[in-house]
Amino acid sequence: MKKLLFTPGPLTTSHSVKAAAMEDMGSRDAAFVTTVKEIREALPVLGHVSKEEGYETVLMQGSGTFGVESVISSTIGENDHLLVLSNGAYGERIVKMCAIHKLPHTVLRFEEDEITDPAAVRRQLEQAPHITHVACIHSETTTGLFNPIEAIGAICAELGKTFIVDAMSSFGGVEIDIRKAHIQFLVSSSNKCIEGIPGFAFVIAEKVALLKTKGQARSLSLDLYEQWNGLETNGQFRFTPPTLSIMAFRQAMRELEEEGGIPAREARYRKNKETLDKGMEALGFVQYLRPEIQGHIITSFLYPNDPSFQFEAFYQALSDRNFVIYPGKLSKTNAFRIGNIGQIFPEDVSALVQAIGEIMQKEAALSK
Ligand SMILES: *Cc1c(COP(=O)(O)O)cnc(C)c1O
Repeated sequence: MKKLLFTPGPLTTSHSVKAAAMEDMGSRDAAFVTTVKEIREALPVLGHVSKEEGYETVLMQGSGTFGVESVISSTIGENDHLLVLSNGAYGERIVKMCAIHKLPHTVLRFEEDEITDPAAVRRQLEQAPHITHVACIHSETTTGLFNPIEAIGAICAELGKTFIVDAMSSFGGVEIDIRKAHIQFLVSSSNKCIEGIPGFAFVIAEKVALLKTKGQARSLSLDLYEQWNGLETNGQFRFTPPTLSIMAFRQAMRELEEEGGIPAREARYRKNKETLDKGMEALGFVQYLRPEIQGHIITSFLYPNDPSFQFEAFYQALSDRNFVIYPGKLSKTNAFRIGNIGQIFPEDVSALVQAIGEIMQKEAALSK
């Protein structure tokens, strides 16, 4: 039996997506170059913008972090200053990038169980007019909360700041209007809500903002402008492309469309989450976040109030039954996470919840 991944990436993918990666593909093959072009044209449309309207798409080899680092290390020029909004591990990852690349930056932190407060962002930007760029995580996968990117984007637009959004775990599973949220750089990857296989990140960028990054990169391989320039001039990646992952991704995009686009996918993920919420509540599990700020991508559950609970054993028992969940990453409390995304359906979530119930019962019987 195949394993089902209830993780935030890589995700469970369809057989047909994996099958699309079965044929060797030369990187200069016309079929491959056409596929890259199709993907670059179709991605911004998912965010309600297009190339004609001045938005460009850059594909970057590597995992999602490579895409974020490419944007962070290419957009902040010598005289720029980045404000990093952080309320979880992924915000902190951007802070680390700033340190490594020695980028002028300021960090505005919020508690892990609180969303980024737009009013605080405004105050910070008004106090520090030298700030030129703002970076924010949309779906903070650490906990599963959604930060209010539209409200923050509106403030950035009003004050003339470049807005960078890590929408890694949300793009494709949540409606995002890139223009309405005033986003200049949005980053996501092949193996999240579009449901492709791992291999590359993508950046959807306002062309005007992208052109300004020319010559600013801190590394050769993650140079956002040059990567775009290469794709524009001959349709090719500068270095070996993730050919098979690209072929699988185009199939994944077709399947997203067949499902009914982002609204239908979002509805399925929400149904998964509802099924999970109800089932876990019935088993006595408590969620880490308040329901108002909990998104539908991934849910954090506190360890049960039972000293004999051991996450490792729990994880292994579930994995033995072919259900893969995710450990927690919280700084102040113990929690584990269950993803609602990927090729999983409410009946799969019900089966997971049932397995959790059986494992908990067995444990309770053993500890008596
Ligand atoms: C998955 C994810 C990333 C990228 O992680 P990789 O392991 O590099 O793919 C970045 N930000 C968020 C919010 C994510 O969920």
